[in-house]
Amino acid sequence: YADLAMYKAKEKGRNNYQFFTNAMNEEILTKSLLENDLRKALSNNELEVYYQPQLDVDTDKVIATEALLRWHHPEKGFVSPMEFIPIAEETGLIMPIGEWVLEEACKQTKKWRNQGHDLTVSVNLSNVQLMDNRIVEKIKDILLKIKLEPQYLTLEITESTAITSLKDTHCKLKQLQLFGVNIALDDFGTGYSSLSYLSSLPINIVKIDKSFINDITDKTKKEIVKSVSNIAHSIGLKVVAEGIEEEEQFTVIQSLGIEMIQGYYLSRPLPKEEMEKKFLNHLNK
Ligand code: C2E
Ligand code: MG
Ligand code: MG
Ligand code: MG
Repeated sequence: YADLAMYKAKEKGRNNYQFFTNAMNEEILTKSLLENDLRKALSNNELEVYYQPQLDVDTDKVIATEALLRWHHPEKGFVSPMEFIPIAEETGLIMPIGEWVLEEACKQTKKWRNQGHDLTVSVNLSNVQLMDNRIVEKIKDILLKIKLEPQYLTLEITESTAITSLKDTHCKLKQLQLFGVNIALDDFGTGYSSLSYLSSLPINIVKIDKSFINDITDKTKKEIVKSVSNIAHSIGLKVVAEGIEEEEQFTVIQSLGIEMIQGYYLSRPLPKEEMEKKFLNHLNK
């Protein structure tokens, strides 16, 4: 697209052209530098899986965690997944990285379960990973190798994943479901899918995006979340509310019969040691 951008910039005159190419060069440079570093991140042990607890509203127990990837860059320090996941997806690096996250998260969960903690784990699955023809086999192999029963794994897909190359994606998700893995629709409400569309998707869980939770104390927002959750329940799906930060939001969610919450109100994502210290020792056994 560099050519197109230059053409457009040229049309606007020389100054714009200069400005535009400089800005673009910088962007491309930053990206390719980051891309180079990302290639080495895995072998340099710069990646770490953090865990954010999910609370069962009824029992007040942590029953699940979401695995969230962290990159400790040697010079830049912490780089956000919002920045590097898209690069990993563009370059295909998401394949080895995504597999590593899945394996790490499953191993850790197996370990916690062996210690007597009744936990499941959610792992984000990129639509690029779902384009891999061997993805279903790869996921099954990891679970079999680690000996984690598939019902203790949830794969989170986004709405955009759910609607791209529909038939193929649905088929793979269905195969995973038949194997026993749970599928969650992440960030629900930010994409294009309608409520009725939910019923045609091979999913078990809906995660209502934090943008709806932000002002849930507002009456209209509350009604929206209420109807989403009612419809989800009526077609047999479980509901998770994401991004709960305050007690008031938690109270509203509780009153709507939503079964699980995740958010800073409970905890930020934590390294495994801190997860153990704060949530697992003495608790949940
Ligand atoms: P996500 O899957 O929707 O994960 C939830 C994000 O919301 C996380 O951001 C989490 O830290 C943040 N969050 C949780 N509770 C709160 C809250 O109460 N308030 C606010 N403001 N934020 C909250 P994070 O860890 O920065 O990850 C961002 C996104 O990057 C994830 O969104 C996911 O789409 C992607 N991502 C992270 N790890 C992976 C991975 O291993 N694989 C793939 N494919 N994507 C990943
Ligand atoms: Mg997620
Ligand atoms: Mg989300
Ligand atoms: Mg997200």
